[in-house]
Amino acid sequence: MPTGQHWYVSVTVARGARPGKRVVLVSGVHGDEMSSVHAVQSVMNQLDPAEMSGTVMAVTDVSRPAIEGMQRRWPNSGRGADLIDMNREWPGNENGVTAPSRHAGLLFNRLLRPNADAAIDFHTGTTGFDVTAFNLASMDVPEVRAMVELYPVGQIFDNHVYPGVLHNAFVDAGIPSFTPEIGAARVLNLEMTSLFVEGTMNVLKHHGILAGPMGRTGKDVGVYIGNSALPIIATQGGLVEHLVKLNDKVEVGQKVAIQRNSFGQVVAEYTSSVAGEVTGQRSDAMSEPGNPLAFILFNNTTPDSRETYPE
Ligand SMILES: [Zn+2]
Repeated sequence: MPTGQHWYVSVTVARGARPGKRVVLVSGVHGDEMSSVHAVQSVMNQLDPAEMSGTVMAVTDVSRPAIEGMQRRWPNSGRGADLIDMNREWPGNENGVTAPSRHAGLLFNRLLRPNADAAIDFHTGTTGFDVTAFNLASMDVPEVRAMVELYPVGQIFDNHVYPGVLHNAFVDAGIPSFTPEIGAARVLNLEMTSLFVEGTMNVLKHHGILAGPMGRTGKDVGVYIGNSALPIIATQGGLVEHLVKLNDKVEVGQKVAIQRNSFGQVVAEYTSSVAGEVTGQRSDAMSEPGNPLAFILFNNTTPDSRETYPE
């Protein structure tokens, strides 16, 4: 930082009485995603090291300066104030040009990667844009698929997404990893969080760290799997009125939102060009052109591995 200081992060370790696999739980890569922090804390609070075979390590506040301000991005000083998305920085570079790259490199090389046989990087939607409960994962990686299927949540977004996200850095290092998404930013959604805690306890049982019967899984909730997320982008400025809700099924051509100008006139109508399920919606009621208003999870016969998504 400009003071010459590094940021500390909060690390909790539950080391089992017997040896075994090591699972790393991460939250706070984005600083406004509080249900992700609570999910990790809730899993850790349920663990009894005396009953465990293996180790679970939690890092709850990866992007410290972003969390201090409960903001998505890491504030740095470029040409004046600047904002860096830490989930585009992984695996980082200890000797990189920028402070966020060095922070990512130090954490990944010295804390996260050396302690992980599997890793889960918890997120939520972003400020102003809510998402439903889903897992973002590369389901063509068998070790990833085996974990993700153990979550009793309604949707899986099966996509490699972009480089630079933390779970892809783990996968590139040979460590199976994925990203749970737990509803809206800035708030605690305890009902939704409990589903991810149940799924993560299943994952710890899957790896033999915990004993006991599995809880509910994706099969029990009829999980919907899509490989693409269609963004519906605002073409006008104005007030947005959604006509569908999160998790609703939509058909090709279905109207999903309208937008009014300052005189109350409808200036835009938005339809889905695909059949799928609503996985995210803008929650800020005002929008300018270019903002995503919704994402529709669907199955694309030729999926684009470089899709945008507010993870
Ligand atoms: Zn995030």
